[in-house]
Amino acid sequence: MASNIRARDDPLEAELPYVSGEQIEEDEEEEEEDIPVGAYEDEIYESESPSESGTESLTWISWFCSLPGHEYFAEVGEDFIEDDFNLTGLNALVPFYKEALEMILDVEPPEEDSLKIPDVSIVESSAELLYGLIHQRYILTRHGMQQMVDKYEAGHFGYCPRVFCHSHPVLPCGRSDLPGLDTVKLFCPNCVDNYSPPSSRFHGVDGAFFGTTFPHLLYQCYRDLFPSVVAPKGEAGSSAGGVDGEEHVDSSQQHDKPVHRTIQPEQLGKRIPYTRTYTPKIYGFKVSEYAKTGPRMKWMRLRPTSLDQLDRV
Ligand SMILES: [Zn+2]
Repeated sequence: MASNIRARDDPLEAELPYVSGEQIEEDEEEEEEDIPVGAYEDEIYESESPSESGTESLTWISWFCSLPGHEYFAEVGEDFIEDDFNLTGLNALVPFYKEALEMILDVEPPEEDSLKIPDVSIVESSAELLYGLIHQRYILTRHGMQQMVDKYEAGHFGYCPRVFCHSHPVLPCGRSDLPGLDTVKLFCPNCVDNYSPPSSRFHGVDGAFFGTTFPHLLYQCYRDLFPSVVAPKGEAGSSAGGVDGEEHVDSSQQHDKPVHRTIQPEQLGKRIPYTRTYTPKIYGFKVSEYAKTGPRMKWMRLRPTSLDQLDRV
């Protein structure tokens, strides 16, 4: 919520003339009569916003992000949208691009333009698509990432359902950068896997609105927040004994000469990962790894115990 409130302040300041104009329209009936072709935004806010009182100053972006199922979205700064460079190529993907952009920025369309639009709901869905695609780009910027980090730390994206991830926070992630192919998924930085959101209200949110790059770029930029790929020594779930033994020999040999590493310690996540893996049992006995139905997840979840070992992978 904190990020919502903060972000809401910025567009408000930029929007002051329009906001006060709208308030006058709503307060005084005569003013409304003066402008018979009312902006279609007013209709949308009136029909779809849950509480009319207090929504006078709500921008389209704030309204969109407050809808149920849109909890993962950050509020894109209007200055980002107003920079044409950031929208390069999107006009080819979004029908009624100009009208959709005006709706997002709360710009009242010229009268002749609003008469051309066959149905406001078409522009509305175009605006959602356009906002989503802008959002995909925005959350890769410094400001966008910071907003998403605030939401991540506040648990807005939820937590990993895997037991041994101990409710590690997850990040929204798309499986495609093009819209209409798949819905949003959740990426867990601890087990490095993708999950379906638990609530069905997210099953209609396009994954392209978050994109395939976002969680992984965030991990590169905010290492303090994420678990390391290297397991702490002696942890269950880290490398098997044999490999570990080999590791000790190697590190003692390398003590004297300078070590050339392709991966530097500062490139790793700073947090200690949860490394335990599930052990299937029958009547209390572990199922053998060599059994046809034997566990495979141990190997899948294996982490190296040192940088040297990681370098050799
Ligand atoms: Zn996980």
